[in-house]
Amino acid sequence: MTIQKIRVEEVSRIISERIKNYGQAVELQETGTVLTVGDGIARVYGLEGAMSGELVEFTNGTRGIVLNLEEDNVGVAIFGSTKGIQEGETVKRLKEINSVPVGRGLLGRVVDALGNPIDGLGPIQSDGRGIVEVKAPGIIDRKSVHEPLQTGIKAIDAMTPIGRGQRELIIGDRQTGKTAIAIDTIMNQKGQGVVCIYVAIGQKASTVAQVVDRLKRSGAMEYTIVVAATALDPAPMQFLAPYSGCTMGEYFRDRGEHVVIFYDDLSKQAAAYRELSLLLRRPPGREAYPGDVFYVHSRLLERACKLSDAKGAGSITAFPVIETQAGDISAYIPTNVISITDGQIFLESDLFFGGIRPAINAGLSVSRVGGSAQVPAMKAVAGSLRLELAQYRELAAFAQFGSDLDTSTQKTLARGERLVEILKQAQYQPIDVGCQVAIIFAATKGYLDQKPVGELKDWESGLIQHLRAKYQHVLDKIKNRAKLSDVDADLRRGIEEFDKGFRAHG
Ligand code: ATP
Ligand code: MG
Repeated sequence: MTIQKIRVEEVSRIISERIKNYGQAVELQETGTVLTVGDGIARVYGLEGAMSGELVEFTNGTRGIVLNLEEDNVGVAIFGSTKGIQEGETVKRLKEINSVPVGRGLLGRVVDALGNPIDGLGPIQSDGRGIVEVKAPGIIDRKSVHEPLQTGIKAIDAMTPIGRGQRELIIGDRQTGKTAIAIDTIMNQKGQGVVCIYVAIGQKASTVAQVVDRLKRSGAMEYTIVVAATALDPAPMQFLAPYSGCTMGEYFRDRGEHVVIFYDDLSKQAAAYRELSLLLRRPPGREAYPGDVFYVHSRLLERACKLSDAKGAGSITAFPVIETQAGDISAYIPTNVISITDGQIFLESDLFFGGIRPAINAGLSVSRVGGSAQVPAMKAVAGSLRLELAQYRELAAFAQFGSDLDTSTQKTLARGERLVEILKQAQYQPIDVGCQVAIIFAATKGYLDQKPVGELKDWESGLIQHLRAKYQHVLDKIKNRAKLSDVDADLRRGIEEFDKGFRAHG
């Protein structure tokens, strides 16, 4: 009924306008009239020449993006408040596709989904603008992932190693340490020449402020861009923010540099897109998400890649984050994103509350391409680590019931317990790959088997100090891809030397 009413009004307005503007029919292509406005969406009559994704401007200067092209109107998502926008007012085509500022001047800044600074540090010194929705590089322009992207988190670098250009999902219930992985990984890029981008979607502004504060205090903001669309921002902004962040990253990737980007989180982006789509009256599908929500995520994550030498060999490594409900990774959005990425780091509440932090479920976490990107020494020690942990998990389930266990079972259990212990890691303490290798080496070669589990934390931090003070050259060798056999003797010497002192003092 309302539609019909609108039509009648439209027709009469068109006729009277036609008469008034006789001879200026072309105008209809360039400007339109607001039919309805509300919930962040405007339906606009006219704008016949508008393209999907094009920007429009309302009379009060508020901008919007054309999302729906229908027969007799277009649906516009409004960037900002709808308060100043009236039905019947004029909308102007800007004849440009949505873009954001790009360049080195964005480093250290916090911007909104449109690239406007929101950190009070004045205007951005940009190096031009980048289109927000671009096509991902094709196969020919890519190369396989082969360089490590060290997160500094032992459990990840050893068991689900990440390569530059990879897409690795961080998935888990709320409050399981998802964001913590992002922050630690960013901190670990210090001095590595990697640009970091953290896109916060639908989070509380105070949570984002805490992340920024932490990055600042650890000196990581210098090489980081934060794009924030908080829970209070309109749905279009939350939907756009990941693409905007990606565009800012592409600037560096296309100049042969390395970028790591976090989308925290895509569940909220999907929810924002669902909201927009329902308001635009697109038909809802599974779990009320529109049919193309898969494409929303795939076209974003496809843009993360390792470029070929001909294209400068830059890379974007992407870590999308997904929040699950009660650990259900088989829901619609989780399965979509799992199928788009090259692996997932699955965080579990039970582990988290059991004191195993990072709460990574080693059985369900995988990295499908990272193995080729591990340094050789890490690859060697991680192989035995994974095997021994798997044996431990298998036995631990049985051992709960058995009373008298044979010695080999006891050994496997004791080893496993210690491996689990050394994979625990406090927040904000990323560890370089050399030290990681040394610790896992010590554990898998049996140096810890006789020690009480409760002592291992102190032992580990002592060893790190000792190696950094006296064996930095060995740590560097490991980082520079030395084989394990080339550092084996040095590692043993360093570990034994330290252990002697540790026992003497303990
Ligand atoms: P949300 O779902 O609210 O976004 P999240 O999954 O991102 O939560 P975080 O905010 O990263 O989780 O972490 C939740 C809490 O656990 C925080 O208080 C954080 O300090 C703590 N935490 C995270 N990782 C560790 C860790 N490795 N060791 C100790 N505490 C940790
Ligand atoms: Mg979080």
